[in-house]
Amino acid sequence: MNVIESKPYEMLIGERWCAGTEGRTFDTFNPATAQVLAQVHEAAERDVDAAVLAAHEAYQEHWRKTTPAQRGRLLRRLADLFERDREKIAWIETLNVGKPITHSLDSLKAMPASLEYFAGIIPAARGETIPVANQDVLNYTLREPLGVCALILPWNYPMTLTVNKLGPALAAGNTVILKPSEVTPLSTMALARLIEEAGFPPGVVNVVNGSGATVGERLVTHPLVSRVSFTGGTVTGARILASTAADVKRVTLELGGKSPLIVFDDAALDKAVAVAAGDLIKNSGQVCIACTRLLVQETVRDEFLARLQTRLKAVRVGSPEDPATEMGPLVSATQKDRVEQYIRIAAEEGALPAQYGSVESAPEAGFFVKPTLLLDSKVDMRSAQEEIFGPVQSVISFRDEDEALRMANRSRYGLAAVLFTRDGGRALRMARGIQAGSVAINTGVRTSFDAPFGGYKQSGIGKERGLEALYENTQLKNVKYDMSV
Ligand code: NDP
Repeated sequence: MNVIESKPYEMLIGERWCAGTEGRTFDTFNPATAQVLAQVHEAAERDVDAAVLAAHEAYQEHWRKTTPAQRGRLLRRLADLFERDREKIAWIETLNVGKPITHSLDSLKAMPASLEYFAGIIPAARGETIPVANQDVLNYTLREPLGVCALILPWNYPMTLTVNKLGPALAAGNTVILKPSEVTPLSTMALARLIEEAGFPPGVVNVVNGSGATVGERLVTHPLVSRVSFTGGTVTGARILASTAADVKRVTLELGGKSPLIVFDDAALDKAVAVAAGDLIKNSGQVCIACTRLLVQETVRDEFLARLQTRLKAVRVGSPEDPATEMGPLVSATQKDRVEQYIRIAAEEGALPAQYGSVESAPEAGFFVKPTLLLDSKVDMRSAQEEIFGPVQSVISFRDEDEALRMANRSRYGLAAVLFTRDGGRALRMARGIQAGSVAINTGVRTSFDAPFGGYKQSGIGKERGLEALYENTQLKNVKYDMSV
């Protein structure tokens, strides 16, 4: 399937598909081959300003006055078009992100349903009447949109993250500017074509491309942008928080993680092994919620490890285009270097790195790293504390429930946690004690568009997905009317 355009990708600003006014382009790569995949036009600062202005005008003149039914109809139309082109978009993600094609197809399956979900919950953005003490006063609330939203996207799940930010922002009545990662802009550009075909009025959705330091920074600090929704690294998230503070913008941050997978001695071991291996392999471990700290009760450590190692030895690392491939490359040379550096750091700290899997059908030049366990890790090692974002897990033993909970919470992050135990009381005690935004018991953490998602501690601020995402895209007004006048 030929899914990549041969001419440089243009941006969508208002009603225009256009190049940047300074005429610059940048290359985007296929991480499996390290070859240039396509060229993309880069926005200059005045192009960012033009996109914000287009979104502001579309909001003021049209979008904020639309009815829930009108917005819902457009989102449903987009859902249908997405379903029509799902396979094409999956191939784009495989070529640009390096996801195995089976995974790309699977991860995009829920996108039409996500758009339909947000179309369906629009009426929930309503207010209420409040029975205040003064009976003469009618007191009620209105849930209103915020205006122009900047949606800043990372490279690990470009399409699912775009859709899950876009749906609630538009449903609530906001207009948006999408800023994909410079590393993986192509699927978002394909979505922009569908948004136009669905009939969204010009300016409601705009897309600008370029680096975070220039285009991203200009966008988030623009005075007409009311809300920023960002997914990416914690350092960048903190920077965005600082650069938007002076204007007191509404900011939602979905940041990094170092999630624990806790295996007690009464666990369903095969299932725990499947979840641990899945988190290591899926998207080459470049998943914010992936469990990267395996905390295993010492009495079952050897048995758990033996089963996990058997599974990992069988992993097929290779070309993402091959349907038999389970794990593709990392997204970029930078990311590969970073992961390999952390493996070296772990060895220097006294952990024992061990690599598994067979590399098949993988071009030499691609950014491949095999699944890696850091055996005999300790909870305070750098490699067990910092987000690596690759196919690497630290294996750490614990003695009892108290120690497991202490270790689970010994992290600056609090995105997710998984625990395996058949003891219901222990499961509930742990679920309450763990400082994380998502906890899964006897299963893996899989985000879904209809349940709230967001981190504790340095893993983020605010919630995305579910009803909370709709509220996050609104502001609440309280109105009083004195009926005695
Ligand atoms: P970043 O967090 O830097 O980038 C995410 C997005 O933010 C990109 O679109 C980027 O633009 C943009 N951006 C960067 N700086 C700014 C800024 N000052 N203002 C506005 N937007 C900005 O991710 P990296 O690619 O640098 O990855 C670094 C690490 O972050 C990873 O190794 C991983 O640990 C973590 N990460 C976590 C993710 C998650 O899902 N939680 C996802 C991706 C990364 P551009 O890239 O085009 O320059």
